[in-house]
Amino acid sequence: MNKLYSWYYPIVIIIIAFIGAAFTVYTYVKMTSSIKSSLMERADVVAQVLEYDQIASLTGTKEDLTDPNYLSLKERFTKIRALSGDIRSVYLVGYRDDVPFFLVNSEEYSPPGQIYYEAGAGFRKPFLHNDQTKVVEGVYADRWGTWLSALIPIVNSENDRIVAVMGIDMSARTYYKTIFMYSALPVIATIFIIILIIVGHIIRKKERVLLEFKTEFVPIIVHEIRTPLTGISLTAESLLNYSSDNLLQDQKKDIQMIKESCQNLLTMVGSLLDLSSIEEVASEDILKQQVVVLDLLHEIVKNFELCLQEKNIALIFDPSLTNDVVVLADRERFKRMFDNLISNAIKYSKQHSAVTIGCDLNEQNIVFWIKDQGIGIHPKDQVRIFRGFYRTENAKRIEKHGTGLGLRYVKHISELHGGRIWCESKENEGSTFFVALPRH
Ligand code: ADP
Repeated sequence: MNKLYSWYYPIVIIIIAFIGAAFTVYTYVKMTSSIKSSLMERADVVAQVLEYDQIASLTGTKEDLTDPNYLSLKERFTKIRALSGDIRSVYLVGYRDDVPFFLVNSEEYSPPGQIYYEAGAGFRKPFLHNDQTKVVEGVYADRWGTWLSALIPIVNSENDRIVAVMGIDMSARTYYKTIFMYSALPVIATIFIIILIIVGHIIRKKERVLLEFKTEFVPIIVHEIRTPLTGISLTAESLLNYSSDNLLQDQKKDIQMIKESCQNLLTMVGSLLDLSSIEEVASEDILKQQVVVLDLLHEIVKNFELCLQEKNIALIFDPSLTNDVVVLADRERFKRMFDNLISNAIKYSKQHSAVTIGCDLNEQNIVFWIKDQGIGIHPKDQVRIFRGFYRTENAKRIEKHGTGLGLRYVKHISELHGGRIWCESKENEGSTFFVALPRH
């Protein structure tokens, strides 16, 4: 099992890293093409509303500055640029003396006629080969910056010749930033998942070390404590029994206290031993047999007769608990489980109340319940009490002694049988503990 785990984590991490990397590459490719096609779509929309006559009338000289066609185009381009936050310029380029030049540009830095000698193939090819393909050029650099451009040739429909190329530019920074933002998501998600796995692994490793410690050392420590404690308890008892006449009243009280404290500690030590031994057991290692639950409960209840009388508590078996209620269980451990639950129900019940035990059957489960009319448990404690070493304030007030280990033990037993335990309770009204077991 340990060997499997030591391979399991690196393999899972490698698989996740691989999936993360593949997803990042996929996102990168998808984003690149989506930004380019979105830029092209927008360029297309602008190009479709351009009037060929307006463009044909431009001379590509300073004289255009007063031409109403130039002014109208310039105003339109400036508006488009202002409306789209990620677009840096909208322009028309012509071709003269083997070099592209600006006819109109939304930006002031390019007056009509300005030569664009850095222009790449996307600007030249349409004029040189009458190539009417729409292209996305870039990323490339010119004197104003680094760009990604959607270029659309404007064609004279009469002679099928290209008169200008319309372009819209997105700055390379915006382009890379958008790609980075989206591609970073799978990277972050992958790193996050890997960190979670590593942290989970570390926690599990620590738990394993703790479990090994508990398995090996708790029984030794507990045995070492039990022997002197038993000695002290016996000495106190014999002092009380045999030297009683020579003791003052106060001394007797003190010795009685020593004896009681020893006995509490011995109970705690016993519970710790039980717990550490049960936590080692695997469910496949328990020996199950047919157990008639009602018989088992009658055996348990016999031991509580005195407490029931003292507190005037009625212990009732619900009619649902017939002789036919049989479970497949480890008899002794199952008995300890009910013993703990019934003992708690009596311990934390009020005088003159009732404790009822019953069961509900459904297709998958048999659910046993132990209901009391006692002090109840605050909702915030209803999970904690199963973790061990925890006692509620209410419980401490009415019952000084207790280990807070019983329910943890009970939880383990129910889990060993493939079941689960929980409680429902209202403070000062009572509690019901449920144990659900699968029906075999
Ligand atoms: P202990 O009874 O020795 O304290 P347990 O593990 O059996 O230890 O129970 C843990 C705590 O759960 C108790 O201290 C008490 O606060 C609470 N508890 C358990 N059973 C009941 C019950 N029937 N009614 C009210 N509180 C309960």
